[in-house]
Amino acid sequence: MIHFPIAIVGGGPAGALAGELLAASGKKVLLFDEKLAWEKPCGGGLTHKALAQYPFLSEARTDSNFIRQCELRSPSGRSARFELRHPLAIFSRLELNGLLLERARRSGAQLRKERVTKVAGENGAWQLTTTYGEYRAGHLVLAAGARNPFRAQFLSAISPDDLMVTAGYFIPGQSSLVQIQFLKEITGYIWVFPRPDHLSAGIAAKMGETTTAELRRRLELWLGENHFNLEGARFYSHILPAFRSQTLEEMEVCGDGWTMIGDSAGLVDPITGEGLYYALRSAELCAGALLAGDPTQYRVQLGEEVISELKLAARVSQRFYTGQIFGESILERMVALTEQSESIRGLMSDLFAGMQSYRDLRSRLLRAIPSLMLSGLNGSMRLPSRRAPLSNYS
Ligand SMILES: Cc1cc2nc3c(=O)[nH]c(=O)nc-3n(C[C@H](O)[C@H](O)[C@H](O)COP(=O)(O)OP(=O)(O)OC[C@H]3O[C@@H](n4cnc5c(N)ncnc54)[C@H](O)[C@@H]3O)c2cc1C
Repeated sequence: MIHFPIAIVGGGPAGALAGELLAASGKKVLLFDEKLAWEKPCGGGLTHKALAQYPFLSEARTDSNFIRQCELRSPSGRSARFELRHPLAIFSRLELNGLLLERARRSGAQLRKERVTKVAGENGAWQLTTTYGEYRAGHLVLAAGARNPFRAQFLSAISPDDLMVTAGYFIPGQSSLVQIQFLKEITGYIWVFPRPDHLSAGIAAKMGETTTAELRRRLELWLGENHFNLEGARFYSHILPAFRSQTLEEMEVCGDGWTMIGDSAGLVDPITGEGLYYALRSAELCAGALLAGDPTQYRVQLGEEVISELKLAARVSQRFYTGQIFGESILERMVALTEQSESIRGLMSDLFAGMQSYRDLRSRLLRAIPSLMLSGLNGSMRLPSRRAPLSNYS
């Protein structure tokens, strides 16, 4: 039986970064992932905020694509294209996970390609059973992703109301355009995220809203209508946390001898589905608290910085997808205003960069209203019409 001060279950972005930071500061860390680096179902989009916080991600010479053009489409087919002031880096998850795990290994973390099947014990004396053996650990970091099989052992199981289902394809091809298509009767959207040699295209909706088969059908229809060729494409499906505000309010992210980070703690923006930044940031906060010898610091700092922002997103999420403004759906208005207004394009660009917090969003919108009204008085408050099929997909 091998004993380690810290065991990390899961070597995705959250677990790998926590492993790296803890090992780099001299902690003995044992990290388990059943697959190690793999092509996890994901868009792979990393915002400017994430790249600024973790510059090694843009410096690393890995397979990533920096995209500057974005297109938003409303449920009725209106569209708005705009330049992203800060590019969105789109990674293959095989590459991203590989990069992060390699950094953890170089820092001294011990990596095991083993599935953890059982966790028992208590603070200071955890027993982990894997497909290959038994291990003991003092502290347990749970980073096993959205399907975290140990969650119910520490907290209540995730309610379907706190999840989204996704379905997608990795499609051979190239593009220089990120596309987001909002949909009728679905709390979610279709995305196309171009990577260097293929595209990650997918669809997400609240769990229970519709079936995965129906989501797949709608995605395939949309892809066909927009001239994407599915020959050689690989299908994927996964769940995505989209916690309600009340769930975020009540949840615990650490306890006696354990901490939860990344998707396993539900740290995903319920509007955009962005989880990579929160996985990395929660890992960083968790490692800092463990190194300071005070795991409860993690709860406080995560609450102030991350959970407060996710709670705001959760509160506006339903209204964003289904609400109305001036007699028309918010999604239709948003696309129309993005098409017409420079200041709204700037705002959208900052949202995609992760630099516009939900806290200041309302005041920024209010500041933009006078110029929007002026353009309305000038007769330019028209709604853009349907756009012709894309031309820059090859
Ligand atoms: C379809 C889809 C598209 C997305 N697109 C984006 C996007 O474009 N941008 C963005 O920011 N976020 C996106 N996300 C969210 C993002 O993928 C997650 O937030 C991110 O992967 C979370 O990282 P993590 O390390 O917490 O979990 P994961 O990446 O899920 O890693 C968990 C790891 O734990 C391992 N594991 C699980 N159980 C065990 C076990 N019992 N024993 C050993 N190992 C185990 C798994 O093998 C896995 O490697 C998307 C999610 C989905 C589903």
